Amino acid sequence: MSPPSLLQASAPSTQSAPIALSYELFPPKNQAAEASLWNTIRELESTNPDYVSVTYGANGSNRDTAVELLNRLLTETSLLPLAHLTCVGNTADELAEIISELLDHGVRGILALRGDLPKDGPAQPRPGSLIFASDLIQLIRRVEQRRSALLCAGKVAIGVAAYPSQHPESPSVEHDVEVLLAKQNSGADFAITQVFFHADQYKDLVVRAQRAGVTIPIIPGVMPLTTLRRVQRLGDMTGVPPSTSLLDALGRADDAAESRRIGVAATVDLARAALDAGAPGIHLYTFNEHAAALEVLDKLQLLRPGRPPVAPRAARTDSARLVRA
Ligand code: FAD
Repeated sequence: MSPPSLLQASAPSTQSAPIALSYELFPPKNQAAEASLWNTIRELESTNPDYVSVTYGANGSNRDTAVELLNRLLTETSLLPLAHLTCVGNTADELAEIISELLDHGVRGILALRGDLPKDGPAQPRPGSLIFASDLIQLIRRVEQRRSALLCAGKVAIGVAAYPSQHPESPSVEHDVEVLLAKQNSGADFAITQVFFHADQYKDLVVRAQRAGVTIPIIPGVMPLTTLRRVQRLGDMTGVPPSTSLLDALGRADDAAESRRIGVAATVDLARAALDAGAPGIHLYTFNEHAAALEVLDKLQLLRPGRPPVAPRAARTDSARLVRA
């Protein structure tokens, strides 16, 4: 009998793989928002997420504040940032510059997006600008290739958007899956979904994607929707029709506390159903607020790896300096 191969002997059981946890943040618009965001960041940091994502305005509208937040996360916290990057309206040269800047800061995860088309923008794209997220993925891989000697301790992980509810510009959900497959073939490592309101939409997307040959993890993005106004705004922003039962329940709530209880319970149910369907992680859209996200997390009781608490990088650097002194 031949000895077991190394692969067989050391293959970990996928049954016991821990559930990934991540949060989405957006760069603050003013000083008050920044102070409140940093309170949220410290609260979220205590839950040991695998990464936190930082949004990026279409056309680079908030490039400086996004890069500053990413830099502070890298230097002042123990958190690993995933930088959103949009390509709409930007040329390959402009985008290569920002990708290089992100890598120079130490970012190793990029969510490659097209970005929403400007509502009052020109009918034709700017000459030389990238059109689709898959173009951006290929560009990131080219920039990475040029810097491969600098990335020996870790390549760039590229994420993309996936849509449980048909993308507003797409002709069909089948087309959405073809686009997702094209992003995988361009070099994407994982996908995070747009918000959705029915667990079946996530399950159906995963089934369609797997049948089409998509093998990358598809992580459900869920948002604690704790007010009627927020659900309505989200529907307008994303083009995803909100659940009528959630709208009704929030509309009937007597006060803010009741509304919040309903929103958190709906998010927990949605996340649990996605996890029961085999979701490899949960990405929580936080709206830069921690309380509802932490409540959802508490109720979900995720199987998380037991990691020792990590001191923020700045503190680690200080103590390293002390030891050397
Ligand atoms: P693409 O994959 O390029 O798709 C755009 C449209 O083009 C789709 O209708 C698609 O079907 C079609 N398409 C794609 N490829 C082809 C092709 N080869 N041929 C024909 N049609 C094609 N927006 C921001 O501005 N900033 C953010 O930080 C941000 N973060 C997000 C995070 C997540 C997790 C998600 C899900 C969305 C986020 N968005 C963000 C919104 C996103 O930019 C929009 O949904 C946008 O309209 C599409 O982006 P995309 O990357 O999916 O584009």
